[in-house]
Formats: sequence, structure tokens, C-alpha cells
Amino acid sequence: MPIYEYQCNACQKEFEALVLGSDTPACPACSSRDLSRLMSRCGFVSKSAGPGGETQVTSSSASSTCSSCSAGSCASCGMG
Ligand SMILES: [Zn+2]
Repeated sequence: MPIYEYQCNACQKEFEALVLGSDTPACPACSSRDLSRLMSRCGFVSKSAGPGGETQVTSSSASSTCSSCSAGSCASCGMG
């Protein structure tokens, strides 16, 4: 399931939304559709600030779960 993280440009609220096809999510706080899509926490964390401060490009990418993503299924880690 493709779950993306968005930030509302109107009220700055950050939220996650399940996006199917060409669906455009709306802000749950103000219903605005003026949103910025953020990089998923999974990809963002592993690229910029991993738990050990290093980029994780070793065997973790082949493991069954994403080590830095609590959800375990995000678009970036390809495990969804
Ligand atoms: Zn909003």
C-alpha cells in the first residue's frame, strides 16, 4: 500500500495518507489540497540520519523489514 507523508501548505500540519491511483488527499485538519509531499520517513531517515549516523546501504536493504521505518511498509523501502 502506498502511504505518503504530506505537509499541508495551508496549516503546516503533517500527516500520512494512503494514496490510490490519482487520488489527491486532503488535509485532515483544514481539508486543503494544497499539500507538499514529503519523503517517507523510511527513506529520509536512512539517507540523512540513520541510527548510527551512517547511511544504511548494506544488507538492511535486503532484509524483510525496513529497520528504520516503524510502519514496516513504505513506498521507499519497497517492502509494501
Ligand atoms: Zn491543513
